[in-house]
Amino acid sequence: MNTQIHDTDFGTPARVSERMVTLEIDGQQVTVPEGTSLMRAAAEAGTMVPKLCATDSLEPFGSCRLCLVEIDGRRGFPASCTTPAEAGMVVRTQSDKLQSLRKGVMELYISDHPLDCLTCAANGDCELQDMAGVTGLREVRYGLAGANHLDSKKDESNPYFSYDPAKCIVCNRCVRACEETQGTFALTISGRGFESRVSPGQDQPFMESECVSCGACVDACPTATLQEKSVIQFGQPEHSKITTCAYCGVGCGFKAEMKGNQVVRMTPWKDGKANEGHACVKGRFAWGYATHPDRITKPMIRSKITDPWREVSWDEAIGYAASEFKRLQAKYGKDSVGGITSSRCTNEETYLVQKLIRAGFGNNNVDTCARVCHSPTGYGLGQTLGTSAGTQTFKSVEQSDVIMVIGANPTDGHPVFGSRMKKRLREGAKLIVIDPRKIDLVDSPHVQADYHLPLKPGTNVAMVTALAHVIVTEGLLAADFIAERCEEKSFHDWKDFVSKPENSPEATADITGVPAELVRGAARLYATGGNAAIYYGLGVTEHSQGSTMVIGIANLAMATGNVGREGVGVNPLRGQNNVQGSCDMGSFPHELPGYRHISDTTTRQLFEQAWGVTLDPEPGLRIPNMFDAALSGSFMGLYCEGEDIVQSDPNTQHVTAALSAMECIVVQDIFLNETAKYAHVFLPGSSFLEKDGTFTNAERRISRVRQVMKPLAKYADWEVTQLLANALGLKMDYSHPSQIMAEIASLTPSFAGVSYEKIDKLGSVQWPCNDDAPDGTPTMHIDGFVRGKGKFFVTQYVATDEKVNRRFPLILTTGRILSQYNVGAQTRRTDNVAWHAEDILEIHPHDAEERGIKDGDWVGVSSRAGETVLHAKVSERMQPGVVYTTFHFPESGANVITTDNSDWATNCPEYKVTAVQVLPVTQPSEWQQGYQRFNRTQLELLEQAGSPEGKA
Ligand code: SF4
Repeated sequence: MNTQIHDTDFGTPARVSERMVTLEIDGQQVTVPEGTSLMRAAAEAGTMVPKLCATDSLEPFGSCRLCLVEIDGRRGFPASCTTPAEAGMVVRTQSDKLQSLRKGVMELYISDHPLDCLTCAANGDCELQDMAGVTGLREVRYGLAGANHLDSKKDESNPYFSYDPAKCIVCNRCVRACEETQGTFALTISGRGFESRVSPGQDQPFMESECVSCGACVDACPTATLQEKSVIQFGQPEHSKITTCAYCGVGCGFKAEMKGNQVVRMTPWKDGKANEGHACVKGRFAWGYATHPDRITKPMIRSKITDPWREVSWDEAIGYAASEFKRLQAKYGKDSVGGITSSRCTNEETYLVQKLIRAGFGNNNVDTCARVCHSPTGYGLGQTLGTSAGTQTFKSVEQSDVIMVIGANPTDGHPVFGSRMKKRLREGAKLIVIDPRKIDLVDSPHVQADYHLPLKPGTNVAMVTALAHVIVTEGLLAADFIAERCEEKSFHDWKDFVSKPENSPEATADITGVPAELVRGAARLYATGGNAAIYYGLGVTEHSQGSTMVIGIANLAMATGNVGREGVGVNPLRGQNNVQGSCDMGSFPHELPGYRHISDTTTRQLFEQAWGVTLDPEPGLRIPNMFDAALSGSFMGLYCEGEDIVQSDPNTQHVTAALSAMECIVVQDIFLNETAKYAHVFLPGSSFLEKDGTFTNAERRISRVRQVMKPLAKYADWEVTQLLANALGLKMDYSHPSQIMAEIASLTPSFAGVSYEKIDKLGSVQWPCNDDAPDGTPTMHIDGFVRGKGKFFVTQYVATDEKVNRRFPLILTTGRILSQYNVGAQTRRTDNVAWHAEDILEIHPHDAEERGIKDGDWVGVSSRAGETVLHAKVSERMQPGVVYTTFHFPESGANVITTDNSDWATNCPEYKVTAVQVLPVTQPSEWQQGYQRFNRTQLELLEQAGSPEGKA
C-alpha cells in the first residue's frame, strides 16, 4: 500500500527546466517550469486531479484514464499526467463530461474488484477507495456476473507481503517501481487485454522470481493487491515517527508506523535525502528482531564464564561492573582496561563511551569496529585530501558519466544506493568494475559493465598504480587542476614513480591477472569520459595495503581533476549505519572527536576543560593490541557496547583466547551475542526504535533517530553508559541526547552548527556544518582541499605475506549478501533467513571439478589459522583459484579461517585474502564441534538465569 500518495504527491515526477511557462488551469494563472505535467501544474495551483496510475516517484504512464482534462483547442480528453504544460494553455480539470468519464472508468475498475472494503486491510488507506469517493461512484451497474478476476489465487510466498491479483487494477505502478526505482525488472505484465496481470518473473511465485523484496512494488500499489502482512496482521497504523535505518551506511530515512506500541510497518521516507522514498529488504521489512523473544531485558552478572548467569537489578549490575573496573585498575594499572564503541549505536552514545574511557578510565584504550572495516579510509583520505570521509552526496551519482566501483558490491551491501547507481547506468553512464568476482553490476538486467577488471585478491595497489601509469604516460592528466590544487613536489614524485615501466599494465598483468588492454581501456575511460566518480568498499580497505589503496584512489581522482564538484569524487561505501559517526565521535585511540590527535595540547585542553579531567596525551590500544595485551596479562577489563568481536574480528581462536584471559568483560547489547558468551556482566541494550539520537551515513549526513517505543530494558544505551560513568565517579547528568549533541557541537568544529533543531528543520545535515556552512556541506573540497593542497603519495605495491602454496592453493575472499547484515545478529532473527539461512562457499567449476566437489556438498575450508566446514556452491561468478563466503552465521566460522595479517597503517584486518585449501568432508570441523558444545553450555547457563533465549 502506498503511504506516499498523500499531501505532497502531485503525481508524475517534477521536470526541471530553466524556462518557465504560464498557463490557465480552472481559471487560475499558473507558472511552472516548461515540461511540467498538467497534473503537477494543477497541483501547484491547489487542484488534485484524480489519478491511479500516476505517482511522483515514477515516470508518467497514462493508463488509468482518470486524470483526463479538457484543453481549449484540443480534441478529446488528454491524460494530465503525460501532457506537458505549455504557455497560454487553457485547461479544465473539472466538468460534467470529465466527471462522467471518470465515474465510468471507476465503475469498470470496481466491477472487477472484490467488494470487501470493510474487511480489506487497506481500508482507509486505499487509493481506489479514495477515487471512488472523488468520482462520486455510488453504485456499480455491471455486477460481478461477467468475466472477472475475483477468483485469482493469492501468492503468499514472500514472508513480508502478499500478492492478491483479484485486487489488481493493472495500473503498472508496481512494474514501473521495480524497473525505475529498484532496477530489478522482476515484474512484468503477462497476458493481453482483459487477461493482463502483474506477474513476477515467468509467472512464478514472488519467492521464486528475481524479486529482491525491496518493497517498492508494495509502496507503489494503490490498492491492497500488494500488502504488507504486518498490516494484515495488526491493522492500519495509527501514528508514526520519522527515523533512520539501523542497518547499513546508506542511512535511509523511514517512517516508523505504529499502532500503540506495535510497529506495523516501516515505510521509506520520501523526503529522506539518502533514499528518496526507496528501501531494501532489511530496512523495509527486517525490523522484527527488535522485539524478538531472544532480547535480553534484565541485567546479568557472573564471576566466571563457567558460572550460571544471575539476573540482577540495574543498580547491582552497574555497581558490580564499576567495582570490577576499579579493582582491575588498582591491581594491574590504569591502562589495564578499555572499551569498544559501537557503530550500530548513535553518535551521542558513541561519544559518551569514548568520553567514559578517556575521562573515566583515564586512558585512551578506546577503539571501534571501523578498525576492521574502514580505518584505512580515515587514514588514506585524511593524508591526501585532508578529511576522513567521502566527498559527495549519493545524489551526486546522477551527474556522473563514468562510475568506477572498486571492491564493493552495492546491490548487496548498499542496495538503495545500488539502485540509484543502476538508474544512472541505465541512463547511459559508463561502468568500470574492479573486483575479483563477477558481482551483479557486471552483468544485470539493463546494466553491463564496460570494463570488468577481475583482479587477483591482494593486488589492488598494483592495479591502481597501473591505471595511474596509463593516465600519466598517455597524457591524460588534468594539468590545470593539479597545478592549482595539488602539492607540486608530491605530484612530481608520484608521476615519476607511476611512469616507471614496471608499473605499466603490461608489466603488472602477471601480478593482477588482468590483461593490459583492459586496464588501459578502463584508465582512458576514467580519465576522459567526463565526470568520473569512484565508489569503493571493503574490497579496498581490508588488505595489508588497504591504506595504500585508498591513497591510490585519491591520487587517481586528483590526477584527473575528479574532485570538488557534483558527479565525481572519492566515495567510501561505509558498512554499518553509524560507522562514519563512530569515527567522527572520537572512537579511535589516537583521536578526539573531529579527528584531532590526542597529543595535540590545544585540543586536549579544550576537552579537559569541558570534562573537568586531565587526559592522557598518549594514544591507547587498538582492538588487536587489546587482544595481545590480554594474552600477555596487561589488559584485563573491557567495556564492549554493541559490537560482536568474537564473530566479526579475524582469527576467532585468537580473539576468544584473549577474551578468556580477561577478568571482567562487560557487554552491552540487545542479544546474548558471541562476545557476551565470554562476558561477566551483561547490560541490556536498546534497539534503534527505543531511543533518540543521530546516525551519520556514508555521505557525512547526520539524521535523526527517534524513539518510537520505550526501551524494553528500561534504559536507552546512552543512559546505561551514563549510569556506568557515574558509578565510576565521572559525573554525567544528561537528560536527553540533544544535550550530548550540544556538547559535541561545542567541542567539534565540523559539528559546530549541528543541533536537533537544525536537523528537524532541514531533515538531515552533512558535516562540516558550522559558521562557514550553516546548512552543511554536500560536496567537499570545492574550492580547495581541506588540507590546503591535495597531496599525492607514492603507492609501491608490496605483495601480502599471505601466499598460496601447494598446501593452501586457493585464495578465500569474503563479503556480504543482500538479505543478511554483518554478524547477522538482527537479520538472523527475522524472516530474511528465507533467502539466506547459512553461509556457503562459492567455488569456480574448474576448482570444484578438480576436487570432486558438487553443488551442495560439505567442504572443509582450511587455512593457516583454522578450519571450518561449509556447503559449496559451484559458481561462474568466481574466477579460478578464488573462493568466496559470507560471515553472517556464527557457526560458519568464517573468521576461524581468516588470519592476523592487517593493514600496515591502521591494523585493519586482511579479511579479503586468506590462502586456503578446500576439500570434500563429511562432518563439521573440530572448531565447529567445539563451538556447538560451548554454545550449548552457555545457553544452559543463560537458562539458569531464566532468560527466554536460554529456553529457546
Ligand atoms: Fe537500511 Fe541500508 Fe537497506 Fe537503506 S539500503 S534500507 S539503510 S539496509
